[in-house]
Amino acid sequence: MTQATQATQRRLTGKVALVTGASSGIGEATARALALEGAAVALVARRADRLEQLAADIRAQGGQAHVCALDLAQPGQAQVAAQQTAAALGRLDILVNNAGLMLLGPVTGADLSDWERMLDLNVRALMTLTHAALAIMTPQRSGHIVNVSSVSGRGASPTSAGYSATKWAVGGFSEGLRQEVRLSGIRVTVIEPGVVATELTGHITHTQTRETYESRVSTMTPLEAEDIAAAVVYAVTQPQRVNVNEILIRPLDQG
Ligand code: NDP
Repeated sequence: MTQATQATQRRLTGKVALVTGASSGIGEATARALALEGAAVALVARRADRLEQLAADIRAQGGQAHVCALDLAQPGQAQVAAQQTAAALGRLDILVNNAGLMLLGPVTGADLSDWERMLDLNVRALMTLTHAALAIMTPQRSGHIVNVSSVSGRGASPTSAGYSATKWAVGGFSEGLRQEVRLSGIRVTVIEPGVVATELTGHITHTQTRETYESRVSTMTPLEAEDIAAAVVYAVTQPQRVNVNEILIRPLDQG
C-alpha cells in the first residue's frame, strides 16, 4: 500500500487525542491505535521512559506524539496535561480518561490510603481533566470524552466495594456529562472492560485478595489491551451524529 493510500484511509488525521495511563496496558494500546488512525497523541503517565519509548515508536511510524510525564493524582496536574496538549499539538479532540488503579480488598480493615489513591486517580483526576478538556473543546464546538470504567462500574463483589465505588462514580459522571454537552457537539463514551491482561492486578496491596484474583484469572483467557483499544477506535471514528454511549466487553470465559 502506498503512503498516499494509507493517509486517505486514516480516519483521525488532523485530530488530537490525549490518552492518560499511556505507559502500559490499555492506555498504551489505545495511544498506538489512535496514532495508527492518524491522530496526534499526547501521552500522559508518570513513567517518562515508557512514554518516551512509545512516542519514539509512534514517530518511527510517521505519527506525531507529545510526552506529558506527570502524576495525575497531584492537584493541578490534570489541568497541566490538557494545557500542555493544546500548546504542543494545537487543539484537543479526543480525551481518553484511562489511567486507573484497582486496589481490591475487603472494606473491613481496609487500608484507607488505597481508597484515597483510587479516588484521587479514578475519580478526581478524571473529572478535573474532563473539566480542563471542556475549556478547549467547548469553543471548538466538538470533542469526544472517552472514560474507561469497568464491569465493576456496573456491579460489585465482596472485595470490589472501594474500586466499584470509583467506577460507579465514573458512570454517573459520564451520563450527566453526556446529557449536558451533547448540544455543544461533544460526545461521551464509557468503556467497561472485563478482565484484561495488563499490569493492573500487580498493584493490589491486599495479598490474599490479589492471590485469589490472580488464581481466578489464570483459569480464563483474558482480553488483550488491543481489544479495548479497538473499542475506543470504534467509538471515536463514528460519524458525528453517532454518540456511542457505552461499550461493555468481557472475555468469553468471564461469567
Ligand atoms: P495498567 O496498570 O497497565 O495501566 C494503568 C496506567 O495508569 C499506567 O499507564 C500508569 O502509568 C497510569 N497511572 C497510574 N497512576 C497514575 C498517576 N498517578 N498519574 C498518571 N498516570 C497514572 O492497567 P490497565 O491498562 O488495565 O488499566 C487502565 C484502565 O482500565 C484503568 O482505569 C482500569 O481501572 C481499567 N480497567 C482495567 C481492567 C483490567 O482487567 N485490566 C478491567 C476493567 C477496567 P504510570 O505508572 O507510569 O503512572
